[in-house]
Amino acid sequence: MRYLILSDIHANWEALAAVLADAEGDYDTVLNCGDLVGYGPDPNRVVDWCRQNNQVIVRGNHDKACAGLLDPQWFNPVARTSTEWTQRELTEVNREYLRDLAKGPRAVDGFEILHGSPLDEDEYLVHVYEIGFAARRLEMPLGFFGHTHLQGAYLVHRNGVKELPPVFEIEETARYMINSGSVGQPRDDDPRAAYAIYDTGEHVVELRRVSYDIEKTQQKILRAGLPEVLAARLEFGT
Ligand code: ZN
Repeated sequence: MRYLILSDIHANWEALAAVLADAEGDYDTVLNCGDLVGYGPDPNRVVDWCRQNNQVIVRGNHDKACAGLLDPQWFNPVARTSTEWTQRELTEVNREYLRDLAKGPRAVDGFEILHGSPLDEDEYLVHVYEIGFAARRLEMPLGFFGHTHLQGAYLVHRNGVKELPPVFEIEETARYMINSGSVGQPRDDDPRAAYAIYDTGEHVVELRRVSYDIEKTQQKILRAGLPEVLAARLEFGT
């Protein structure tokens, strides 16, 4: 089976469309590590697509906030403003869909998908020691996560954690933590949309990037009256 792994789309339709075009023919099933909405200008279009096309999905903190499950008081003012805007925009059916999304981790096919960390769906795994610690909390030897918007794959060994190249083979005896990166708002200084493909038959994971029409998304953000910084940051991948 070839899995397309998406995370942190954040209501960015142009980025999602570019990923789907780039990955076309390379996957059978779509998995989603959460944060479908928040920040971006196309929450309904993105959620409509996810409802129809995502086989296994876990919720992100923005999904919870926009569905009214999480008080956005701890969000920064920009995130809070975009949450309130998204709450007004969402159709009833999409709000319900977000509200009913499962909490991660969820088992898929010998691996797990999650938004933040295995113990806390809202926890950020940034440093390698955090990633190594989290890997040992998974029931399965491989986990795909998101939330930080930083793409990267890590081999977790009892003696340490090693970052892997964008394409690598999965060894059965090892443990892995893989952040597919953010489709709609990358923060690793690369503005291109990020995603991953996992081919369980070939035992290969590929971390990919693809350019998209950033200007179009920026114009939509500004037209919607969302904070300008949400448009500006897309250009820099920050
Ligand atoms: Zn996110």
